[in-house]
Amino acid sequence: MKTLKIAIQKSGRLNEKSVELLKNCGLNFENYKSSLISPVSNFPLEILFLRDDDIPEYVQDGIADLGIVGENVIEETEVTVSYLQRLGFGKCSLKIAITNNSDIKELTDLEGRSIATTYPVILGKFLQKQNIHADIRTISGSVEISPGLGLSDAICDLVSTGGTLKSNGLKPFADVMASEAILIGSKGSEHNEMVQELMQRIQSVLRAKETKYVVLNVEKANLSNVLALLPGVKSPSVLPLAEEGWVAVHTVIPERDFWDRISQLKQAGAQGIVVMPIEKIIL
Ligand code: ATP
Ligand code: MG
Repeated sequence: MKTLKIAIQKSGRLNEKSVELLKNCGLNFENYKSSLISPVSNFPLEILFLRDDDIPEYVQDGIADLGIVGENVIEETEVTVSYLQRLGFGKCSLKIAITNNSDIKELTDLEGRSIATTYPVILGKFLQKQNIHADIRTISGSVEISPGLGLSDAICDLVSTGGTLKSNGLKPFADVMASEAILIGSKGSEHNEMVQELMQRIQSVLRAKETKYVVLNVEKANLSNVLALLPGVKSPSVLPLAEEGWVAVHTVIPERDFWDRISQLKQAGAQGIVVMPIEKIIL
């Protein structure tokens, strides 16, 4: 059987979460900072640790079958790869930002202005769509300081909390693209049996992350009201308690409805609500 290769970021914002995801998929590998390739002992897979900029091309060229990288990097490198799975971490957004005292008020005010960025391709396409002609200044890093240095009128950079912008006297002005980490594969790799197996494992980990296992006690008289609030993977389990007239309900609920549901459940008569993390959900 051919050993697959997956490229992940060697160090940086996506490294830790990428390693964690693969480990949660039950893959055993050493995560030495010094090694560039790490074999997985219990799956036909090798992990390549790379600069994130190189990952899309490695995957496009088939040097790696799979990769985990930010959507922003994929779009910027304009590669042809298969988008296999959004991973829900590394969320950020590419924004145009201006100085706090800037005279730029609307997008059209960017006409003829200079914008510093490390994302000239994405920014170029965005401006073209808006029919704005601006001078894109491509620099390789520390974009936030360029307006202060008089190098540009605006910047286009990745933002998550906005703290870096603020501390450099900048404010967000326009959203260019939203991004998160994505599992990509070489074209056609999605048909590979081992890729499918790995994707299933990844999906079961992601699904589990989105849901909680909930156990609660309720008086039989209130059971139907409580059940009406619980979707469950298939349907909730209802087990008798030692105390006459009471049952325990076991189910899973989506994290996003969590707090809403918990208060509704309490109102409906649920007691002793226990919420537990789920490791994997295999459908
Ligand atoms: P490398 O050394 O691998 O080239 P890098 O310095 O280019 O790393 P990082 O800063 O580690 O990249 O960011 C990696 C990815 O994390 C980004 O491409 C983006 O998808 C995501 N990300 C999430 N939040 C942010 C943020 N606030 N700023 C920058 N990137 C972010
Ligand atoms: Mg990089």
